[in-house]
Amino acid sequence: MTTGTTPKFTRRRTTTIAATAALAVAVPFAAGTPAFAGPNFPSTEGKTNISSIVDFDGLVAELDRIERTSRFDVEVQTLAEVGTAVSMSEQGRDLYVATVGDGPEAVWLQGRIHGNEPYGTESLLSVLKELGTNGSPEWKLLRETYTFHVIPMYNPDGSELNIRHTILQDGSAQRIDLNRDWGVGKFAAAESEAFYEYWTMVDPAFAIDIHHQGLKREYGTGDDVTFSLGISLAPGGPTLPGIEGGAYDVLTRQMQVHVFDELSKYGYVNIDRYQVGGSLEIDIKGGVVSAMMLGLDHDGLNPEGHSNPAIFFETSGNTSDGSLGQKARGKSIKQNVLALQELLVGMATGEVQAEDASRWDEIPHAPVTGYQTDNGVIPIGY
Ligand SMILES: [Zn+2]
Repeated sequence: MTTGTTPKFTRRRTTTIAATAALAVAVPFAAGTPAFAGPNFPSTEGKTNISSIVDFDGLVAELDRIERTSRFDVEVQTLAEVGTAVSMSEQGRDLYVATVGDGPEAVWLQGRIHGNEPYGTESLLSVLKELGTNGSPEWKLLRETYTFHVIPMYNPDGSELNIRHTILQDGSAQRIDLNRDWGVGKFAAAESEAFYEYWTMVDPAFAIDIHHQGLKREYGTGDDVTFSLGISLAPGGPTLPGIEGGAYDVLTRQMQVHVFDELSKYGYVNIDRYQVGGSLEIDIKGGVVSAMMLGLDHDGLNPEGHSNPAIFFETSGNTSDGSLGQKARGKSIKQNVLALQELLVGMATGEVQAEDASRWDEIPHAPVTGYQTDNGVIPIGY
């Protein structure tokens, strides 16, 4: 099932992660300008220039470069090379996964399942590069504790089209939200079949999924939110407390408390809890990370009922509504890289598992009025 990571050592970290993360961002801010004026990005004035976003060819080139130049072994494979029964996107693009690390537990890191949510790709490429090159004790600990399965671009077709969905090539031209397609009677799209089978091969201990949201203000203060923390089956909700004796209900909240605390040190990041429609907790079963937590057995590929906890990140700003804010690119990516590093190191050291899950209530959020499920809203106190 889960995360039986034995804490190898515990200590408080200070500047190491900040320093390495600054190096991980490809485009630093110009010297002389106030780099981080406050959590006020992106903005409607920040013009979205999608030509600077990593496209599919750019992804393939960067993965190749990382594989060739890494100090530690990074293996880049297509799912065709892995040998899944379905291995290409709907439009026939290769689906890529990069692995790094020698640890006994697998970790699944996925980005850009929604094609118009770009920085999951760039954030994961940054982290992959660090995992492949950084010799510091923390990155060494990560490589020794885990084997990482990094999927920087889950939805290459949607990425090329700058749309959320993939488009079925069966003549229907139906648009499929890949993050609602892992479910009983679902799996309409090739990408879902391919990555699901790969998930059953990997049996990860936990997963992290990177998204974008629109511009958002913090409930109560009105401050710009730069980053929201999500769990696609709501803690304390209709579903999650019943899985694995409530273990994921606790651990997913501990993960978020840890990220919230660690990133609060950075003045340009402002975090809240992901909610739908202002005051609803998300509780959908067809999301990829939901199906992972539910231990979905599709096509008899998961007969042992493997499941794993998972959380997702939402960076504010989206290419589709023009709110991405090109000037915020560096900060938008860096907050994901920092959140990934802090969460992964915290899991490896056991700091996450020692967090007080009840402090999840302290992460800013609107008063919860209900749960947004696949079949409508369930009011609180159902
Ligand atoms: Zn998304």
